[in-house]
Amino acid sequence: MFSVLDMFTIGVGPSSSHTVGPMRAAHAVVASLKDSGVLDRVTRMHVTLYGSLAMTGMGHGTDRAVAAGLEGSLPADVNTEHMLNIKQEYEHKDFMLLGGTHAIAFHYERDIVFELWSRLAPHTNGMRFVAYGDGDDVVDEQVWYSIGGGFIRSGSPDDPMIGIHDRPPVGSTFAERDEGDVVHFGAKSPYDFGSCDELMSICKDTGLDVCDVVMANERVIRGERDTRDLLLKIWHTMHECVIAGSTSRQEILPGGLEVKRRAPGMYRRLSSNNDVLARDHHDDSAALESSDAAWVDLFALAVSEENAGGGRIVTAPTNGAAGIIPAVLQYYWNFVDSADEDGVVRFLLTAGAIGYLFKRNASISGAEVGCQGEVGSACSMAAAGLCEVMGGTPRQVENAAEIGIEHHLGLTCDPVGGLVQIPCIERNAMAANTAINAVRIAMLGDGSHRVSLDQAIRTMKDTGEDMMSKYKETAQGGLAVNVVEC
Ligand code: SF4
Repeated sequence: MFSVLDMFTIGVGPSSSHTVGPMRAAHAVVASLKDSGVLDRVTRMHVTLYGSLAMTGMGHGTDRAVAAGLEGSLPADVNTEHMLNIKQEYEHKDFMLLGGTHAIAFHYERDIVFELWSRLAPHTNGMRFVAYGDGDDVVDEQVWYSIGGGFIRSGSPDDPMIGIHDRPPVGSTFAERDEGDVVHFGAKSPYDFGSCDELMSICKDTGLDVCDVVMANERVIRGERDTRDLLLKIWHTMHECVIAGSTSRQEILPGGLEVKRRAPGMYRRLSSNNDVLARDHHDDSAALESSDAAWVDLFALAVSEENAGGGRIVTAPTNGAAGIIPAVLQYYWNFVDSADEDGVVRFLLTAGAIGYLFKRNASISGAEVGCQGEVGSACSMAAAGLCEVMGGTPRQVENAAEIGIEHHLGLTCDPVGGLVQIPCIERNAMAANTAINAVRIAMLGDGSHRVSLDQAIRTMKDTGEDMMSKYKETAQGGLAVNVVEC
């Protein structure tokens, strides 16, 4: 059964599918070795990263995430400093404590490899873990997939291999295998829905708002108080991330692109220019810098730069798009007079429901459908959440969510150097302001709209399937090839 809390997990930057998912997979492999009683027989591990994980894994820190996962760390508790430096640390030692306890031989470059020319057919983010024992006997072999948003899925060592740009054979992908076997929001809860139309019908029949429907389902899973506490923990982590990004002393983001952090300077400038009465009316820049939109830009840049720097982050619904929901929530918190913690909870419940519809009926993975699935989904979720707390009706919430995705349809994923920096960081700021504008349009209307959210999500899925693989997180097309790395 699905929970909105699956859409918001506390993790680590820079990528949910390339950092968070692989760390969880490595951790799961070690846990299964422990559970099956064979951990003590393992003398070394060999990990192969395929497809998009190989093409952009270096920039996303996939190898570092796998190493940390093998050591027994999880994204929510990993020491972010250690993770940033893990490769250098292994230059000075030739062993690893697998799962934090069992010593094995470990040579970083030999034991974690990027396979650039082939991929596993079911999903482009595949990983193969082989545990060797004495005499190089294979103790265990497992295949895992990072399927977007930090979600992982186990596969089979026999899953077929294909060329990096080949189309998977019919029937081999998860999307095809899963036909008719999808996760339900509330299979055992009061309100089961799998589409926005069904959600709207429930709201109409019961008179409940979207957030009330979702809370009724969450109540069955863990009770209202725990759900509320966990959502507020998510909010506080998002808030801390905005502060950390706005006050960071790091000037240049890691990765080699020499991208400067802009949020700290922007924060200094905006906070000193807040007195609109004292501003110089002949200074045109003051008009830009004293607007709400400028602060929303700052909030989104701060989180996205923290993500790119490998900091603590909330995956919402992915890391690449992690700046959008916190930025819109901060807008609500700082610029809406009636804002309170109840509103934050209602915002996140509503946004989570919309994220679920994207995950269930299309994808939130840039490697599967391009950036429309990451930034587009996050924009739609944020718009729905804000519309809810601004007093929007369920139909206005749907309208805002639909506007949020409609204008991101077709957006490709082409990160320069495979790093979640260009165009990702600015793209979060643009999408956060688009979400607020979508709410403005929806709230000025009566909720009626021509394109339904379900139709927009279906269009996103179709567009993603038609999109060439070079535009789906491989760093082989678009800006990634037209901007020279130096
Ligand atoms: S371009 Fe979009 S989908 Fe691709 S890494 Fe950046 S944020 Fe993620």
